[in-house]
Amino acid sequence: MVEVKKALCGGCLFGFACPILAHVDGDRILKIEPDPLGYTNYPARCERLKLWPNLNEIILRHPKRLNYPLKRVGKRGEGKWERITWEQAIEEIAEKLKEIIENYGPEAIALAQGSVYGDMDIGQHRFQCLLGTPNAWFEGKQCGGARFPIEIAMYGYITFLGIPIPSKTGCIVFWGGSPSEWPNRQWFERVLECRASGTKIICIDPRPTSEASLSDLWLQIRPGSDAALAMAFLNVIIEEELYDKEFVQKYTLGFDRLKEAVKEMPPDRASKITWIPKDKIIEAARMIGTHKPVCWGGGGDYITTNHLGPATSVFSYYFYALVSLTGLDEEGGMYLYKNMENYGCAYGKYVAMWKHLCEHPKRKRDTVGSDIYPIGSCRAWMTYYDAMKEVEPYGFECQYLTMPSHAAVVDAILTGKPYPIKALISQAGGLSSFSLGRLVEALKSSNLELFVTMDIFPTPFTALADYVLPAAHTVEKDSLMTFNGLVFFIHGGEKAVEPLYERHDDYDLWKDLGRKLGLDMPDKEKLLDMLLEPTGMRFREFVEKKRYYFP
Ligand code: SF4
Repeated sequence: MVEVKKALCGGCLFGFACPILAHVDGDRILKIEPDPLGYTNYPARCERLKLWPNLNEIILRHPKRLNYPLKRVGKRGEGKWERITWEQAIEEIAEKLKEIIENYGPEAIALAQGSVYGDMDIGQHRFQCLLGTPNAWFEGKQCGGARFPIEIAMYGYITFLGIPIPSKTGCIVFWGGSPSEWPNRQWFERVLECRASGTKIICIDPRPTSEASLSDLWLQIRPGSDAALAMAFLNVIIEEELYDKEFVQKYTLGFDRLKEAVKEMPPDRASKITWIPKDKIIEAARMIGTHKPVCWGGGGDYITTNHLGPATSVFSYYFYALVSLTGLDEEGGMYLYKNMENYGCAYGKYVAMWKHLCEHPKRKRDTVGSDIYPIGSCRAWMTYYDAMKEVEPYGFECQYLTMPSHAAVVDAILTGKPYPIKALISQAGGLSSFSLGRLVEALKSSNLELFVTMDIFPTPFTALADYVLPAAHTVEKDSLMTFNGLVFFIHGGEKAVEPLYERHDDYDLWKDLGRKLGLDMPDKEKLLDMLLEPTGMRFREFVEKKRYYFP
């Protein structure tokens, strides 16, 4: 009998997870269509689905999928495996974790999460906080890891993705991002509507992108010189008094120091560094300063500076100063993403329980590397929390302040300093942002006593694991998309089919292991109900009647 399920599409690696109606016969997805109740009808226009209309069914039955739990029987990387049951895998992994906790403390267990298939963060975050290890990270480490902590330090929150509004947004600045190339073009289509309504567009990118072609001004920047450009914009905007004076007076500290600092970067100096003509820098700064509110960037990807280490941090400081002078937390500009309870999700209360982690009685040490990289530690999070607790009782959920340095994790495995990491559990390619050479050495090292991966397909990391666990795909599980607490809306969908073979929901790993270790890990549906407390709905009702929550 054919049933229609209110599911989520798993066609993208990083889950926008568009809402779909899946027509299902038993364990087969016959076809999908957009759900009119969903937050987007994008599946109707999606380029991927035009190519592969039943992409989810293809992934569901792909011959390379991992289907059964495997235990290594040869040397690491030798490719010799024994098929075992899920229960045996959980039992053995839990026993080993107990031994490691007994000998080295919970901090010796590191947890890695990669690209999301449906929801995944909820399990790892809760497990981590209840267990008491600070050494955990998610895929955001490789995109916003250098920028968001700066923003959090400056505003207390992040802005991430502004929502441009036609006839309201004065100017949109693409700084390296290319939303026209995103699989989900909703945001870019909003940009086109804004442009038609008279919004100015500036593109800062060395490449001749679609954004460049529709811009009023295209600044073809020398890659990596963004900080100089941001300083020069500030120089002009402050010098010509084009900033929001009321905002500066009411809400900022240190404006005079900023003013002094950017005097060092007049447009002619910035021109030599950035290769952008001086007049264009001035013209762009004036356009920004006179067309507020400004909607900046295209999301998390300011690509000409990301991953430049200290350069990214310096850029971020000036960039976020620019954001705050040109329409921060204004409709049509850049919103502050505050506690998710405002957006219908008790995420900080039940999942991202960083205060619980920081005060955990069994946690004796901070993240490995916290002495060298203090942002990326419980100490950083508590400093932040102390400053914000009156407005954010659970603290902002974002994990960026607590994630350890990748290099320090590898060092801790190989050298045992500052203390040893003895177990590593990785889901969905959670190690893909590491520098590979030393990581492989660490994964092969006998110092690492336990290495577990859970994924939908084999990867170079599953090849080196002690246990490989098969993950369910988006259409095989109920999901509440919380985006690691990064955005201000949530949406959900039910599973279209039961997991095939012996695949499991990612959450099962944390629930089953957690229970073996005496942690309070509820059934997934119960946790989803708890998370939806602010909406007054339970998960099933939410999916049936509401589907998404957007304030
Ligand atoms: S963008 Fe397309 S493939 Fe990706 S989740 Fe949405 S509908 Fe599926």
